[in-house]
Order: sequence, then C-alpha cells, then structure tokens
Amino acid sequence: MQKKYDYEILILGAGASGLFCASFLKNSNSAIIESNQTAGKKLQISGGGKCNLTNEFVTSQNYFGNSEFVDSVLRKYDQKKVLEFFKNRGVELVIRSQGQYFCTKSSNEILKVLGDETRSIKKYFDHKIINVEKKDDIFFVYTDKKVFKSQKIIVATGGLSYKIIGADEIGFKIASEFGHTITPLKPALVGFTVQKEQFWFKNLSGISFKVAMSVDKKKFEDELLFAHKGISGPVVLNASLYWEKGQIKIDFLPNIDLKKLLKNSKKQISSILPIPKRFIKEFLQSIELEDKSVDSLTQEDFKKLAIIKNYEFSPAGNFGYTKAEATRGGVNTDEIDQNTMQSKKINGLYFIGEVTDVTGELGGYNLQWAFSSGFVCAKSLAV
Ligand SMILES: Cc1cc2nc3c(=O)[nH]c(=O)nc-3n(C[C@H](O)[C@H](O)[C@H](O)COP(=O)(O)OP(=O)(O)OC[C@H]3O[C@@H](n4cnc5c(N)ncnc54)[C@H](O)[C@@H]3O)c2cc1C
Repeated sequence: MQKKYDYEILILGAGASGLFCASFLKNSNSAIIESNQTAGKKLQISGGGKCNLTNEFVTSQNYFGNSEFVDSVLRKYDQKKVLEFFKNRGVELVIRSQGQYFCTKSSNEILKVLGDETRSIKKYFDHKIINVEKKDDIFFVYTDKKVFKSQKIIVATGGLSYKIIGADEIGFKIASEFGHTITPLKPALVGFTVQKEQFWFKNLSGISFKVAMSVDKKKFEDELLFAHKGISGPVVLNASLYWEKGQIKIDFLPNIDLKKLLKNSKKQISSILPIPKRFIKEFLQSIELEDKSVDSLTQEDFKKLAIIKNYEFSPAGNFGYTKAEATRGGVNTDEIDQNTMQSKKINGLYFIGEVTDVTGELGGYNLQWAFSSGFVCAKSLAV
C-alpha cells in the first residue's frame, strides 16, 4: 500500500534549533526543509563568527518569556549538557567575559558538528516554505519547489531579524493559521535611536565605556557604544530586550561615589572623572555647566553634575530588524507543552527556537534556548 506521507517528521528550518533537534532524530524517517542554499547561516555569523553558544550561568531570569516554561525546558537540557555535546565532538571552547562560552576557532566548527550529526537526514535546501495545511491527519508543507507530506512537523524557522540571511515570518504565519496566539513581535538585542534632547550623543560616535543601565526592573553593567544613529553596545542590547516605550536610566560612573571623588580637589571636572574627556565635555554642555575646578563647584553645580549617575531619557526607537540579534515575542508558550514542545492545539505540530515567545539576553542565551528546546522536542519524538 502506498504511504500517505513522505516523512514521519519534517523539520522546517535548518538553523540552530532545527539542526540540533535533527541530530537526535537520526533513526527516524525525517527531513529538513531550508530556504537558504546552506544550513545555519545565522549560527555561522553568531558571536562575530565565533558563536557564543552558551553561558556558564543560565537561568530563566536571563530570558524574556514565561519563566516557569523556560525553566522547565532549560532543566531538561542545560548549559552543561550543551558544553558536553560539543566538547565530546572536539570543539574547543573558551570563556570570555561574564561566563560567555565562545569557539576558540570559528562557528564553522559548530556547523561542522551539526552537519556530521545530521548527515543521515535528507536536507532540502533552496526550498522556501510558503504554507502548511493539515488534511486527514497529514501535514502538507508547500514550498516554492514541491509539496511535502508529513505526519509531524517541527517549526524551527526562527525570528525576523537579518532577512538578508533567510529570516522570514513563515513560522508565525503557520502558528496563527493553526489557531495559536503570537505575542507582539519587536526587534530585540538592538541599538536605540535617540530623541532631539540626546542628539549630542551622536557627536560621540565611536566612543565606548562601561556604564550601568536600568530599564524596568532590570539593571545591566557593560560597555555602551555611541554610534552614528544613537547608542549601541552590549549594555544597550540587553536593555532593549526589556524596553517598552518609556524611560531608561544610565549611570555613567558605575561603582563610583561622586561625592567622595570630588572631595577636596583642585582638578578640572574633565580631569577627575575616569571616563573619556570627549564624553564629559559634551555631557557638561548638555547640562549647561562649564568645565571648572572641582573646588569651585556650587551646590547647584553639584546637583547638576550628579545627573551623570542618574541620566534619564526615553529612546526614540531602535535600529530595527536589520540590526537586531533577536526577535522578542512569538508563539505563545502557554499554548505549547513544556515537556515536548508540541502545540496544545494541534497534534503533531511542534515549535522550537526563536519562533517561540522566549528571548534571551546577550551572552549565549538564545543559542542555549535553540539547543534546549530542540533537544526536548527530539527527545519526545525519538524513535
Ligand atoms: C548577528 C547575530 C549574532 C548573534 N549572536 C549570537 C550569539 O553569539 N549567541 C547566541 O546565543 N545567539 C546569537 N544570536 C541569536 C541566535 O543566532 C538565534 O537566536 C538562533 O540562531 C535562533 O535559532 P533558530 O533555530 O530558532 O533560528 P535560525 O537559526 O534563524 O534558523 C531558522 C532557519 O529557518 C530558515 N527559514 C526561515 N523561513 C523559512 C522559509 N520560509 N522556508 C524555508 N526555510 C526558512 C532560515 O533560513 C534559517 O536557516 C545572534 C543573532 C544574530 C542575528
């Protein structure tokens, strides 16, 4: 009798989550469909080509999303397991700052491992998925080349950023057509554009130094980079994940007691503050205070200067999906089973990776999510 379907499992998207998931499904009748000519293009450029693939410290607090759901999935395949997986396959990793694990050589090593692990799984490259339907318990996956029939499908099509390397809204379209809710989508891990009052930031393009940035209830301490269009750098990328419209706060002198620093000194303000002079000059201009010797500061002057530790402003917006490292929002995790990544609405439909409503901070958390969710899904399907 002729089979009603081509594959038992079809993975949509050969990115980090799809490939990792596939590597545990070697013995199944599966295939992967991918619009690019090669696998893992985003993975390849991740971490500046060295792929920050996880972090020494990973908890649900590093994610924007339902923390109970995130926690449950991470616990089933944590950072230690990810490290073990790649180290056992010969990848050398190194911790850079803040517990971030990077490849010592190149992210191509990660791609090679995943390629080797999924060698037995047929990959259809250059096939753009256009639509999915379910008829008589079979999924019909329509691509621009042909139609595939499968018993189960795993949506691993990622987020919306970096269209240039294949990002597409198809995963969100499939989910909503099958009755899922998509929580609001927006660029995350991205720089901020600024309003008129902060246009002086633009004069500082290229300067970077460590600051503390508070947004909502989160506080990050890391490098801030003044850019041509606004502000960027790790501290801003992290803040962008939690920013809704409204104010953020910057402490340009974190861990420094301004009062103590300025006590009994004859030095100029710009000589005593341990941050770039060019910044101090622009900052002083913006608060209308001249650069003078510290012992000549009046109480009023000091009050003005203290703004440097509590600078509040509202960004105008962000640099958009062309620059964002992630998409915040996605398929509502209340509608996904945390033990299997299967839809609670449609049998045989699964969601993994960035297409879900889980977004990690900068530091390897998004790839960790791609791997953890990919594993949990594969484990529930493994034959
Ligand atoms: C510049 C940059 C640097 C980053 N650096 C890091 C880092 O160092 N550490 C970290 O943790 N995270 C990093 N990220 C984020 C991380 O890369 C992603 O979160 C992760 O790759 C998501 O995995 P995924 O499998 O969900 O999606 P992806 O890896 O994006 O895979 C989705 C796949 O689906 C394919 N696809 C999409 N639509 C279709 C369609 N219609 N038909 C067929 N195929 C389709 C895409 O081509 C893609 O191959 C970075 C992101 C960017 C943009």
